[in-house]
Amino acid sequence: MIIRFAIFPLFLALNLSMCKKQESVSPSSQQASASSPTSAAVSTPIAAASPKITKPVVDQTAQVIIFCYHRLVDKIRYPGTEITPAAFEAQMKELKDRGITVIPMQDLLAWKRGEKNIPPRCAVVSFDDGWKSQYEVAWPMMKKFGYPFTMFIYTEGVRGGSLGGGEAITWEQLADMRDNGVDIEGHSATHQDLREGHNIMIANPGGKRTRTKLTGPQYEEWMQNEVVGSKQLLEQRLGIKVNCFAVPFGNYNEHVKEIARKSGYEAMFTVYGQPITFTSPLDSIGRYAIEANKPKVFEDAVKMIGTSTGGAAAVAEVGAKDLSTQPADGETVRTALPLIKANLSAIGQIEPGSMQMRVSGLGVVPASYDPKSGTVSYQVTQKLHEKSCSVIISAKSQGKKVEAHWTFGIEEGAAGAATSPIATPKK
Ligand SMILES: [Zn+2]
Repeated sequence: MIIRFAIFPLFLALNLSMCKKQESVSPSSQQASASSPTSAAVSTPIAAASPKITKPVVDQTAQVIIFCYHRLVDKIRYPGTEITPAAFEAQMKELKDRGITVIPMQDLLAWKRGEKNIPPRCAVVSFDDGWKSQYEVAWPMMKKFGYPFTMFIYTEGVRGGSLGGGEAITWEQLADMRDNGVDIEGHSATHQDLREGHNIMIANPGGKRTRTKLTGPQYEEWMQNEVVGSKQLLEQRLGIKVNCFAVPFGNYNEHVKEIARKSGYEAMFTVYGQPITFTSPLDSIGRYAIEANKPKVFEDAVKMIGTSTGGAAAVAEVGAKDLSTQPADGETVRTALPLIKANLSAIGQIEPGSMQMRVSGLGVVPASYDPKSGTVSYQVTQKLHEKSCSVIISAKSQGKKVEAHWTFGIEEGAAGAATSPIATPKK
């Protein structure tokens, strides 16, 4: 550490983020729309709707919080960028306990593109700057939890680079992470304020560094290396595709964003934490920077996402997969009159009369529940008019409210004619 940051003693804030490839599923969404009672087709039997999977239906009501960590150390000396392994582990466990699904960064982006569904409440974990404790301490813990994550690397800070001291991660360690599915993304070359005219350090031939302010063509040239050169270096050294950029210190402006966009970054990340929604702009995605001296940041972030989906009461979320739902989560069916079924036995004993099924476009429906088999089912009798349909089942079990939601698609042509004016998200 000694060398790495000594050069920039003023700035200890950082950011990062990461991504990884892994499947995650389970959505919920709630676009309701009026369904017309024109039941011309009611008599049409549901003819074994052999469902086929097409483009996944994404849950536009899902939310994601992104965390940004730096160093993991037993003895905190820089509380702004450090956290103890024990505190970190407790936070990872808390995500699990609260039913927040940790997803790869690339799943977040695929969801934003409308290509992949994600669970209703998700987190992305990222590590900034490339410290070796991220490799040695954080990674084994993440493996234990089975969590994907992203590393945001500034290339001069890798071991051997002009800013990469003894605590820095090495290219070999990054390659090892890459080989094991860790997402590695960009965080500039020298980790400095990228806005034109700000104080920066530049290296002169001979290794001497001087503080300066760059403007005009000199600034643009320097930026090319910070934003484009660093991306190319990561891509070439590691044989990867880099599509995320964490802005150093979270400091950016329109020009910085424009250069990043033109350089092929799909998403840019800052450190102003906020829940990410389907419509959040991709060029300024906020992450929660977790610091040892501000434990409340984590708690607040988790609460933000905890309350936004549910209501006031604590609700235990059950994965649609565990309920063997029909249609399955993310499936697309060929009928607008599907039979909706789920098996609630995974939830445990259901209190009599507490089961309720809601269907988007219809509201609460008179589903039947067979306590013996645990099966709840409802035959839709009014054509569903949306291309996607969300089902929410809630029930009480041992005094607690339990909820499951999932979303399936209805093939175009099968859905009722009306194209509803609902929730077409802008990107
Ligand atoms: Zn950083």
